Amino acid sequence: MEEVDLLIEHGYIITMDDLGTQIRSGSIAVRRGIILAIGPDDRLHGRYNPSRRIDASGKYVFPGLINTHAHMFQVYVKGLGKDKSLVGWLEEHVRPLVPRLNEELCYLAAMAGCVEAMHSGVTTVLDYMYAQTSPGLSDAVIRAFSDTGFRGILARGFSDRAYGDEAQRRLVEPIDKVLLDVERLARDHAGNPLLRVWLAPTAIWNLTDEGLRLTAEFARSHGMPVTMHLCETPRDDETTLARFGRRAVPFLADLGFLDAHFLAVHAVHLRDEDVDLLRRFDVGVSHNPASNMLLGSGIAPIAKLWRHGVRVGLATDGAGSNDGQDMIEAMKLTALLQKVAAEDPSVLASVDVLRMATKCGADVLGIGDVTGSLEVGKAADLFVYDPLKPKSAPVLDPVSSLVLSSTEGNIDTTVIAGRVVMEGGVVNGIDEETLLRELTSAAETLTR
Ligand SMILES: [Zn+2]
Repeated sequence: MEEVDLLIEHGYIITMDDLGTQIRSGSIAVRRGIILAIGPDDRLHGRYNPSRRIDASGKYVFPGLINTHAHMFQVYVKGLGKDKSLVGWLEEHVRPLVPRLNEELCYLAAMAGCVEAMHSGVTTVLDYMYAQTSPGLSDAVIRAFSDTGFRGILARGFSDRAYGDEAQRRLVEPIDKVLLDVERLARDHAGNPLLRVWLAPTAIWNLTDEGLRLTAEFARSHGMPVTMHLCETPRDDETTLARFGRRAVPFLADLGFLDAHFLAVHAVHLRDEDVDLLRRFDVGVSHNPASNMLLGSGIAPIAKLWRHGVRVGLATDGAGSNDGQDMIEAMKLTALLQKVAAEDPSVLASVDVLRMATKCGADVLGIGDVTGSLEVGKAADLFVYDPLKPKSAPVLDPVSSLVLSSTEGNIDTTVIAGRVVMEGGVVNGIDEETLLRELTSAAETLTR
């Protein structure tokens, strides 16, 4: 018998591999965080001697969900959006908060974000950390990723263009300083297999011409991916038309920004020409339906992008414009928004929505070879789904039920890189009640 670290047995496994393989009563053997074998129980039975066993009888096993865009610090303004659109919400609620953040507050917010992610079946989060008013805030998020065992991408946010009020100006940093800090973060954490560092210019209107040019150069010379808010509102096109005489997407294409290592966040206000450019340059898109709805930003043309072969991942956005970080909800909103926008229920299938939340989400984050589906050689990033909850029962089609009839309460067990981080709905090694009390008290103090 072969020694393995973990054996998950008797589960109904939805692999999300390219063949759409589902195994009705299956097992997954894991060694050193990697899937060593996956198949029917009777084929794997008796072959492995696991240090730890999970009985998934009567439950479903899915690949972990991939949240391609979050701002975990924004949990401190959850519920305070007060029906404002993007710019008003940023000016009145987010920017005034940012100078008051410190390392401990960012760490606490990120710990809470990772805990909610585990309950939501998420095993990878890209955190777009754009508040950098004091040193060490990105490091605090990375520390939370490490302490919770999360697979994370720290997207180091920045603005180098001052144009607004005092709160906006406080967020501005010289581009040289930003790029040095990005280099430092990447160097400091190069040995962490679960972490990657990305560039995250916040939005075209927050960047100078030189900032944009140097970011593109740095990305190319360091082989580092870039993610940026793009066309969330018409403001991107208005700004680039006024400053450069071109709309945003063609402008970025000319600048050499667009390629397979660029992740465009939101992509709500697109013209046909933009869709063609995103496809031609193989740009990834991060879809944030709850945030787009809450801020009244609009409906991103996701079904159209998908039909044209643009790679799409799903996301929650920050907890301040969602107002949570529930990826189960993000899947349902994605499905429903596209159906109602097209007045056609067949425009986007549940299985495609799940593909966006798993395999394609991993792909747009450049880790499609590591995670996103349950296959031999990939990381054991997964969750076990309990169907016996009032909203979901009876589960007759597991993919449809996950996308349309589920809550965070269905997520029983979450495994990241072979490590069981949550089991039976209880997060391992973290006193959740104490954490949430501390978070609440910090938020009350911060927003007082
Ligand atoms: Zn965002």
